[in-house]
Amino acid sequence: MKTLAEIRNDFPILNAKVRGKELVYLDNGATAQKPAVVIDAINTYYKDYNSNIHRGVHHLSQVATTAYENAREKLRGFINSPKLEEVIFTKGTTESINIVASCFGRKSLNKGDEVIISAMEHHSNIVPWQMICDEREAVLKVIPINNNGELLMDEYKKLLSDKTKLVAVIHISNTLGTINPVKEIIDLAHQKGALVLLDGAQAVPHIKVDVQDLGCDFYAFSGHKIFGPTGVGVLYGKSEYLNDMPPYQGGGDMIKEVTFEKTTYNCLPHKFEAGTPNIVGGIGLGVAVDYMQEVGIDLIHKREEELLAYATEKIVKVEGVRIIGEAERKASVLSFVIDGLHPFDIGTLLDQLGIAVRTGHHCTQPLMSFFEIPGTIRASFAFYNTKEEVDKLISGLERALSMLR
Ligand code: PLP
Repeated sequence: MKTLAEIRNDFPILNAKVRGKELVYLDNGATAQKPAVVIDAINTYYKDYNSNIHRGVHHLSQVATTAYENAREKLRGFINSPKLEEVIFTKGTTESINIVASCFGRKSLNKGDEVIISAMEHHSNIVPWQMICDEREAVLKVIPINNNGELLMDEYKKLLSDKTKLVAVIHISNTLGTINPVKEIIDLAHQKGALVLLDGAQAVPHIKVDVQDLGCDFYAFSGHKIFGPTGVGVLYGKSEYLNDMPPYQGGGDMIKEVTFEKTTYNCLPHKFEAGTPNIVGGIGLGVAVDYMQEVGIDLIHKREEELLAYATEKIVKVEGVRIIGEAERKASVLSFVIDGLHPFDIGTLLDQLGIAVRTGHHCTQPLMSFFEIPGTIRASFAFYNTKEEVDKLISGLERALSMLR
């Protein structure tokens, strides 16, 4: 088992100085830092075997293809997908959701059909559904939440009907930290014959995700939030549904045969991977999930739970702080507001101390409207964060308050 010091050593940026101060990086919900093994894998690809994949007969192309496809296998194992072909490389969560909205929507949504999302969705799990529902004259329904930031499951049950074709919900809220009861959500949807997509962008960094155990039909996540590169992510989908959907984009790699009269499409996963993909991104992401597994997802979860409990206990003692998101089951996301002060001002002052937090609406504007606030200050912890960093956040906040009040 790696010690915390060893883990921190694995991430070169954690030694950085910001404005002359030691960096305290608490913006992991936006993007996580990269361990040296990932950075090295990216370097090695460009130094030693940069080449386009699939179809190449030459050596470098074969090496790159093998590395890319091995990475797909690693990701399959990471989420326990039963089939390799069900793991599609995408640009990230946003593209993964857009693929399902656009392709499932075009094939399966008709006038009067219904799609259900929730009040705590990230914009990337709202807007694609609005767009396709508009186009297909389908109806978008929203599961409401309570003041703690928990889904109202009784209201969800009432929204489900024979018209429901798909339910798309966030697994863990990026703004509130709420861990949603997704198994129950899936079971209830399936009883009505509806499919379920989970936005797992904030779940895979924190908890073990097993798509077979969950029983979801689609699962979307981004590489950069799990210590991999930006511009790469995954869409998991059950092959029976992916096979049934039209392709997302046309171009190279997604075809079997092209004539001017008719094109036939490639098999999964390539049918949804038109054009040269983010090869180095996929390879780097494979190394990132290896790294997470080496550290141990259970250990990651345990460390982060401890950090969240410690930070929550400390922050409620800061005068005027109100936590936004007090669900019973939470991941290591701590959003809060401070009476009479704008989150942006607090974030700017914390930055002067080398402390990186996120301020604003976190791409969840409807959630901000629900809580009647302009935004929050969000500290989001990863397993490499420490209690000393939490202490710096608290003293930084107190200092900011004394300056602003
Ligand atoms: N969904 C959630 C819950 C997120 O937190 C994010 C990013 O913050 C996204 C979707 C979008 O991810 P990406 O920008 O990597 O596509």
